Amino acid sequence: MKVKTPIVEMDGDEMARVMWRMVKDKLLLPYLDMTLQYYDLGLKNRNETDDKVTTDAAEAVKKHGVGVKCATITPNKERVKEYNLKQEWKSPNGTIRALLDGTVFRAPILVKNIPASVRTWKKPIHIGRHAYGDIYKNAEIRVPGPGRGELVFTPEGGGKPVRLTIQNFEGPGILQGIHNTDKSIQSFAKACFTYAYDMKLHLWFGTKDTISKTYDAQFRQIFDEEYRRNWEQKFKDTGLEYNFTLIDDTVARIMRSEGGLLWACKNYDGDVMSDMLGSAYGSLAMMTSVLVSPDGFYEFEASHGTVQKHYYKYLKGEKTSTNSMALIFAWAGALKKRGELDRTSDIADFATHLERAAVETVENGVMTGDLIRVAEPSPRNRQVQTEEFIDAIAEQLKGRLRRK
Ligand code: NAP
Ligand code: MG
Repeated sequence: MKVKTPIVEMDGDEMARVMWRMVKDKLLLPYLDMTLQYYDLGLKNRNETDDKVTTDAAEAVKKHGVGVKCATITPNKERVKEYNLKQEWKSPNGTIRALLDGTVFRAPILVKNIPASVRTWKKPIHIGRHAYGDIYKNAEIRVPGPGRGELVFTPEGGGKPVRLTIQNFEGPGILQGIHNTDKSIQSFAKACFTYAYDMKLHLWFGTKDTISKTYDAQFRQIFDEEYRRNWEQKFKDTGLEYNFTLIDDTVARIMRSEGGLLWACKNYDGDVMSDMLGSAYGSLAMMTSVLVSPDGFYEFEASHGTVQKHYYKYLKGEKTSTNSMALIFAWAGALKKRGELDRTSDIADFATHLERAAVETVENGVMTGDLIRVAEPSPRNRQVQTEEFIDAIAEQLKGRLRRK
């Protein structure tokens, strides 16, 4: 099957990189004739290219429209030593999101034999994570000792700067500046209402606008305006609700809800809460993730990381049982979107078969270690290793395509 338009492929690190290769070799390349614009976002190459490869990859997504990304290391002090880095390079996801703007939508991959660990959750809870600004594009100062920390805005073309004292330090401390833009919050709001409406989900949003009366309040206000202007009637006509509450109240309500909703989250809330949701639905590897930019670009990825602990075992030659589900769904998502944009239904169909084959494999009891721990007990359940799991999906996929 021919994929008409090139797909931007961003390779990654550690165990995710190992699985990435297997998924391509065993599940995709035997069936697809595709042009991949390959960018190696592995930490070694980011270091060698002074991280230029990351911005190049983001530009390529803007050019071709659809990209798929493997998990990558966000370096910290230990990684700088481990990889002998020139500097502590920024998070590639942060860089890409800053360039593409947009909202990250995450949805659980549901399988029949793994019940959600929150009993009331009967339907999926999707998360829409604002992917621009806040702490992910911050400026920080380690305050060495006594002095004044200030927040300053200097208007372009003159005018009196606005100056606020944050804190008069009496000793060492820390200081952070964050920002967002109306434009980005508006596109976040628009993307969330559109997604919720298309997927027939209620939309919930929470911020801390009682404490942050300008910053968080602006998010609330923009969502309210977007709702009243473009969605109120449509939502009412379809029986959908838009709910705004304080973020802590939202969290409490989520735990008692039955699901079937899109939870719009500010950047940090989405980062944290999507991992909670992922585990509650079985495993971090049971969560799909797509960045939707306001200009119509799509970047698909897994929401888990590089699975470092498993990788160290793998390097020692020990057996691993790492779950490739989210990586497979990232590729399937990219292919489906490509099929839709190119109007090549055979490619979109293939992607659906791939997803179904992966889900059926787990439902048949063939599982990686993370899933076997949480699955409904059955004599059919059998734990398999990383590669065996992909092989089992490959078999299932072959059967499905033969029966087509
Ligand atoms: P992680 O890679 O998501 O793994 C955390 C733990 O979750 C693992 O140790 C494992 O638990 C379980 N897990 C996650 N994915 C799994 C999978 N596919 N199959 C089976 N179990 C899975 O997070 P981390 O260890 O905190 O971070 C490792 C590296 O990933 C860091 O360098 C971080 O910067 C990076 N990271 C990248 C992204 C991204 O690129 N999108 C996102 C998050 C983190 P057990 O050990 O208990 O089996
Ligand atoms: Mg996270």
